[in-house]
Amino acid sequence: MESDADPVAPGGVSECMLRTVLDEHTDYICLVSGDGRIRWANAALTRLFGWPIDEIVGGDAFALIHPDDLERLRNAYAASLAHPGQRYAVEFRLRCKDSSWRMVESAGTNLLGDPSIGAIIVSTRDITDRKHAEAALAAQRDDLDRQLRYAQSLRRMSDAIASLEEPRAVLDMLVREMGETLRLDRCLLFDVDRERDLAAGVSQWLNQANPEAFSIISDYPLEVFRESWKHLWNTRTPIVSHADAMSEPLVKEGSAPYCHGELKIRSLLWHPFCFRVDGFFMIALNQVSSRRHWRPDEVVFVEAASTQVNLALQKRRIVAERTLVEEQLRQSQKMEAIGRLAGGIAHDFNNLLTAIIGYADLMKDKLPPDHPLHRHVDGILQVANRASATTHQLLSFSRQQVLKPKSIGLNGLVSKLESLLRRLIGENIELVVRLGHDVGRVRMDPGQLELALVNLAVNARDAMIAGGTLTMTTSVCAVDADGAARLRLAVGTYACIVVSDTGVGMDPETLRHLFEPFFTTKELGKGTGLGLSSVYGIVHAAGGGIHVESRLGKGSTFSVYLPLDLAGESTPSGGVQLIPARGGAETILMVEDDDTLRELLGEALIGRGYRVLAAHDGAQALRMASTSGHIDLVLSDVVMPQMNGPTLARELMRIHPGVRLLFMSGYTADAFVGDADLVNVPVITKPFSIDDLARTVREVIDGRARTAR
Ligand code: ADP
Ligand code: MG
Repeated sequence: MESDADPVAPGGVSECMLRTVLDEHTDYICLVSGDGRIRWANAALTRLFGWPIDEIVGGDAFALIHPDDLERLRNAYAASLAHPGQRYAVEFRLRCKDSSWRMVESAGTNLLGDPSIGAIIVSTRDITDRKHAEAALAAQRDDLDRQLRYAQSLRRMSDAIASLEEPRAVLDMLVREMGETLRLDRCLLFDVDRERDLAAGVSQWLNQANPEAFSIISDYPLEVFRESWKHLWNTRTPIVSHADAMSEPLVKEGSAPYCHGELKIRSLLWHPFCFRVDGFFMIALNQVSSRRHWRPDEVVFVEAASTQVNLALQKRRIVAERTLVEEQLRQSQKMEAIGRLAGGIAHDFNNLLTAIIGYADLMKDKLPPDHPLHRHVDGILQVANRASATTHQLLSFSRQQVLKPKSIGLNGLVSKLESLLRRLIGENIELVVRLGHDVGRVRMDPGQLELALVNLAVNARDAMIAGGTLTMTTSVCAVDADGAARLRLAVGTYACIVVSDTGVGMDPETLRHLFEPFFTTKELGKGTGLGLSSVYGIVHAAGGGIHVESRLGKGSTFSVYLPLDLAGESTPSGGVQLIPARGGAETILMVEDDDTLRELLGEALIGRGYRVLAAHDGAQALRMASTSGHIDLVLSDVVMPQMNGPTLARELMRIHPGVRLLFMSGYTADAFVGDADLVNVPVITKPFSIDDLARTVREVIDGRARTAR
């Protein structure tokens, strides 16, 4: 301190000292006179704001104030004039010499009335840095607050997803969480379905506090949003549009006036997710009463939430599919087990019935024609034949019945079926049968072909509850390379039966699963889902193919292609020619594991004059065959323990090449299928009558029997 050179003012402080103190002060201090001019300023004016003091002193006190803050400052000034001695404080922006703005806090006291001062003393502090720090802090707090809200929302969703059963409920939750967490006016979810050409409204959340947020959920034709969905589909990124800055796709497709005008949306964001082959979901965020800038972290949040939902839905779908597959497997295993059980029972019953019928036949033969017991024997035969019809039903259910393929005239079979079909489909459905010319013949089990056509007709009937037309057409048609690839057939000419209806038709999903066993859309108890799978089995077993065309509401057409039997001769129409059941003197090696049946068959054949070697299994039969000399016929059961009929037959053919074979069977066992060297062996189906047996044995020995397979 230079106290020596300075005149000391009363109180021990010199004026120079005071001036220095004021200039050293961190705040800008000035004196403003009553007319609003700056009378004096300290050096801080230059230090803080760059203004040379003499450029400011004498000038207007309001000259450096930001125009937007001016009014506030003038008010404070006026208030200060009105209340002398009172301090006022005000914040405003002040212009620096370099034209930048600083935020300042100014406090003043009106001492105009004090004769020793006569000015307003104003002290101004630069608070720009403090303000910036405060703003940054507030922004940070805001960010944290938002992140916390997002995290809580994501957490809530993942908790809820675990407990929500319905996919629909998960989507509703997503929409609600977006609406509440992002404080939207409206949030919607659409299912954009390209196949149906529709953006179907799935869910909507509205901000109840905002009366302007009215409901707009609806199904919108994709046509209207052609460019938007193309953008969403191709780029898989969101669309953002504002009433004052409309997005390009919306402008291009012309939907902008609708969205921003009619629907009064100020700002929107469309986020696509959950992409599948033919569409995707889209979540739509709307701000109605105010413009909204979509922050990057908000977009990230929407993405995270929808990804979470997408994963949940996918997981659910996979689980559902797996459950379905397991259920189908369980079902088919069950049906197979039931089938095997039914087949086994039927097999045993066939043996019993064959014996019953056989003994009754023998008894009948031995009774004098006028014997009163004839009536009773006929009764036994009638009941036994009825019982054998039941075993055949069981076998057909287990799909183990013996196939008896023969040459069938297609037109003949269809016209024979016509009256049955007419009764089957009822009166409100018209049946039109169109038989083509020279349709030719096919080679398969006629019972099976009838069953297939009946199944198709029954399905058609079920599809036409309210009536309609069922058309059955036969023709010969050429299958070209395309058709052959589709039907997995060889190129060529086929016999074709087309069954079409005018019923409800099928959607693509049904078409995909149509032939699967147990696939049915009918209510519990109405459908088994086995109809078409057996049609499929029958047609394919005959070397044919099947093609379906159908659309929802447009009816269905099933085209069955069957290989033509070019060698097949027509059976005379006058019914089956019965060859009298003659006997003979030849040697028959008979193999049957069922004791009763073996005894009966032996007795019956011996009764017709044959020499019979009876074996109870394959091993015994082989021993007999190697020691017994010439054998005219081997009559063998198919299903036997240890060695089955086919294996035995192959062994015997080695010992006696060219020996004649005849199988007796109630069902086709697996061992029988695909046996190329045995396809020509005839089969007599159990149960059979002694007459049937005698006739078939004779035919086979004489070389007249037509093969059964
Ligand atoms: P089921 O008739 O017992 O349901 P099917 O195997 O015969 O079993 O048929 C499977 C499903 O295929 C049916 O439930 C039905 O949905 C559909 N379907 C079959 N034929 C037709 C048809 N002519 N019109 C419409 N749908 C059909
Ligand atoms: Mg059916």
